[in-house]
Amino acid sequence: MSSLVPPKSTDIQYETDAPIEYRVEDGVAWLMMDRPAFNNAQNGQMTYALDDAFQRAVNDDGVGAIVLGGNGKHFSAGHDIGTPGRDLHHEFDKRLMFAPHTNKPAAELLYTREQEQYLGMCRRWRDIPKPTIAMVQGACIAGGLMLAWVCDLIVASDDAFFQDPVNPLMGIPGVEYFAHAYELPPRIAKEFLLLGERMSAERAAQFGMVNRVVARDALRETVAAMAAKLAKQDRLGNWLTKQAVNHVEELRGKRAAMDAVFHMHHFAHAQNDLVKGDSIAGVSGKSAAAENKKAG
Ligand code: ZN
Repeated sequence: MSSLVPPKSTDIQYETDAPIEYRVEDGVAWLMMDRPAFNNAQNGQMTYALDDAFQRAVNDDGVGAIVLGGNGKHFSAGHDIGTPGRDLHHEFDKRLMFAPHTNKPAAELLYTREQEQYLGMCRRWRDIPKPTIAMVQGACIAGGLMLAWVCDLIVASDDAFFQDPVNPLMGIPGVEYFAHAYELPPRIAKEFLLLGERMSAERAAQFGMVNRVVARDALRETVAAMAAKLAKQDRLGNWLTKQAVNHVEELRGKRAAMDAVFHMHHFAHAQNDLVKGDSIAGVSGKSAAAENKKAG
């Protein structure tokens, strides 16, 4: 795929019309990614459905807390880089006042799309005024990390692992929402990014990237109990409290750091396009999985 000649969006075959399952129980909105056949790979369709779901949960005064999870074996294999529903060249109504991306030449196409769909959406979701919990089992890879990181709390099962392999695979310094060096101490963030290896939930918890690690069969009930407690607490108090910590992160330069690294990320996409004729260095979902398997 070259970003110079966008294929027609009619090539896309969605396997579902509803990639996010939404339900409310006991004041808690459960947002479940529902592309289990593709390990919940995040395409544009899912991104916008997720944005709709978060908006719905925010608008509903009966919802006091939000859980984000994934149906099936894995939380998320990351951004969609190879399913029949990959929709890089489909135009959705922008939510964040960016121009259309599909008609833009060369590097401007991906830059415009990722400003909205990755960096912009993640920031929007991180700042929603209700507490959020990521419920993570199995794989949480690359784009999957962004979805977990925007949540206020992360609860993982003991079979969960976290990985950002985009430097080894594509020569790109991490996924678009560069929270790595905020979620992990700098030297561990370097190891995580440079080697791109899996980090177990237990190890992630040692660095504070994960709040709790529980047995796989206790995951849902653990998250449900935490979310129900949050949902019963004072709405404004919960909002102010999460804002307080988010604000401290901003004072530590999180937003400015992410803006800077986002541009390095796009320099690397452009370099891949120039050198390899493909912004992600010809990597597909299949080839990434094969490399991962080799790496153990
Ligand atoms: Zn990117």
